Parts: sequence; C-alpha cells; structure tokens
Amino acid sequence: MSKDHPTVLVVEDEPAQREVLSYNLQAEGFYVETAPDGDEALIVVQEVCPDIIVLDWMLPGTSGIEVCRQLKTRTETAGIPIIMLSARSEEVDRVRGLETGADDYVIKPYSVLELMARVRNQLRRVRPAAVGQRLKFEDIELDAETHRVTRREKQLKLGPTEFRLLTTFMEKPGRVWSREQLLDRVWGRDIYVDSRTVDVHIGRLRKALCAQGGEDPLRTVRGAGYALG
Ligand code: CA
Repeated sequence: MSKDHPTVLVVEDEPAQREVLSYNLQAEGFYVETAPDGDEALIVVQEVCPDIIVLDWMLPGTSGIEVCRQLKTRTETAGIPIIMLSARSEEVDRVRGLETGADDYVIKPYSVLELMARVRNQLRRVRPAAVGQRLKFEDIELDAETHRVTRREKQLKLGPTEFRLLTTFMEKPGRVWSREQLLDRVWGRDIYVDSRTVDVHIGRLRKALCAQGGEDPLRTVRGAGYALG
C-alpha cells in the first residue's frame, strides 16, 4: 500500500486491544503499524515516520507518557499528533497527559467510533487531503475525493503518480522534500524505485501544471530536493 494512505502507529501492550484498533483503523483505509511497548514504539517511529500515533499510557518498560515526552521534544517527531489512551480518569492525570504534549486524550474503556473520529480530527491538521479535504495553493486547487485538480479554474490532466506527488506538496507548501522522502510517501516504502524516477514524474507534473500557462510553482532545491512555493 502506498504511503498516501496515512500511517497510524498503535502502541498498546494488550494484544486483543491492539488487534481491535488495527482492524478498525485498516477498515478506515489507514496503513497500520503496531508496537507492543514504549521502546519498540520509539524504534518504529524512526523507521516508518507515522502520520499519527495512538499511544497507551500504561506500557511495560518505557511508559506512554515518557514516549510522548521524548517524541515531542525532538524536532523531527514533534509535529506527529499523539492521542493518549488511559484507564485513568482523574482530572490531574488528564492535565499531566496534555502537559507532556499529547494532542488528545481518550479514557478507557473508549468507544472505537469516538476514537476513529478523533484520529480523523488530528489527521485533518497534518494530512488534510487524506481525509478528503480540498487543498488550495495560490491558483491551484485539488480535490482529494474526486481526484480533480484545477489551475485558474481550468481542469488539469494528471496521472495517478503526479496526482499523489502534487497532493504531498500541497499538504505542506514550502516544505522541501528529498527524493527519498517522496519515494517513501508517493511510491511506498516496500517498492524499489530508482530515485531518478522521481525526477521524471516531477517533470511531468511541472508540464501538466504549466499546460494552461502560469509560472512553474515547483522549486528545485539543489542537493536537497523539491518544494512547492
Ligand atoms: Ca496498557
């Protein structure tokens, strides 16, 4: 599965709960990674760079709170939304959870439907197109649900790879993406694709974007990669 499906990391030590969460998240179309404890969670985060983390508070070894604190203090991972799960309901714990930087907090036993809504809610901030929101950058508009892209209100013809590339750029205008990051996000990490392939598709995307006139909105950053705007 390509990484334009958001990746959710589920950190939960109870196998049955991990299973239920994974099943429901996959049914929503998410790519799911799991970790049974805090130490493994920290390793998996480095490996897969998830879009969002559902993190149990009580874990063997490194606790959920400590995992959260560590991820929120590192610049590379600080932006990943974290939803904490906890059996504790006291207000004081809730405050502590939010103080460590958790973005949301759900008390066990929770309703799976409610948790799914909260996951989507967090993703709306970091992966807006993945939850069906329209994206706009200057005169370019992209509708992730209908796969329609327009520039100056004229429809553009994009292949599926160019569409995913543009979605990635439009979710974070200004961000510089390396070829490897684009390969991971657009092609998926399980497929071997030569990094020159990225250049070929960037070329096609540029051509499509400029087909109706207008300046090239994509920027080549020497030695680093590509950015929109
Ligand atoms: Ca637990």
